[in-house]
Amino acid sequence: MTEALWFDPHSMAARINAQLADLHPHIPVFVVAETESTNADLLRLDYQADAPSCVLLTLHQSQGRGRQGRTWLSDAGSLTFSIRWQFHRSPAALNGLPLAVGVATLRGLESYGIKDLSIKWPNDLLKASSKLGGILLEIGKPFSSGQTHAVIGIGINLLVPCEAARLQQPAAALLEEGSLEPIAPVREGALIALLQSLLPALVRFDEEGFEGFRQEWMQHAAWLGQPVMLSNGSQGTLMGVDQDGALLLDTDLCIERFLSGDVSLRPAASDTIPLN
Ligand code: ATP
Repeated sequence: MTEALWFDPHSMAARINAQLADLHPHIPVFVVAETESTNADLLRLDYQADAPSCVLLTLHQSQGRGRQGRTWLSDAGSLTFSIRWQFHRSPAALNGLPLAVGVATLRGLESYGIKDLSIKWPNDLLKASSKLGGILLEIGKPFSSGQTHAVIGIGINLLVPCEAARLQQPAAALLEEGSLEPIAPVREGALIALLQSLLPALVRFDEEGFEGFRQEWMQHAAWLGQPVMLSNGSQGTLMGVDQDGALLLDTDLCIERFLSGDVSLRPAASDTIPLN
């Protein structure tokens, strides 16, 4: 295949959709060369309005978002996409969804051959304890009553971002530094492996909620049973998560519970914790 075809959005979309044709559930994958934010696009009801559930992949995202208004760096060495999904649950019943998505993302990356992965609560993907990927769940206005319109943005580093030096925590990537492997086939292969894991997981979450994912989340949790600190100043031993995906921290005085969105987690004695 010529290099131009690897980077042509129409050719990419055709190849990806063909490879996922037999996947259940089946939803369309759209590809654009660049956009500000795939999440922002899919939150708009008029964006691909005849495909309420769909995937949007971009080759370059200029204003990637993280939790609490933080920035997600995504340059030419990134895999950046969002999934728009219609859940038959209220927004309040999606509490554990970010963690379930973390589990499905980890599983997808493992099936692509990536090792040494763990999940930092609630859903950051770590490789050898450095941040490989981030996930941002946002809720939009409903397409139809009785359904919740959720947009799940996922950013995975294929190469360590050029601006990684300005991050507070070390970044990891799928490819080794200095790798000569062409990046475009890795982007496509990893996306397909991720969607093969993620889309069935979203169906399962809609039917069963977080409970079916909790055990697997705990098996892959970074620093489980170890001392950790939170950005709100709390410290204790990481005990795991409850049925809503809330973090359980043993502070010696009691077991404290924190919902995702409130706080960031670091191993104890870390000096890189963002302050809320
Ligand atoms: P934290 O990782 O600080 O606990 P968070 O889990 O809320 O915060 P996200 O919203 O998932 O973080 O991602 C935003 C944060 O991730 C940024 O504040 C920055 O520290 C880090 N970051 C941004 N871009 C990248 C990247 N490409 N690779 C690794 N880390 C990144």
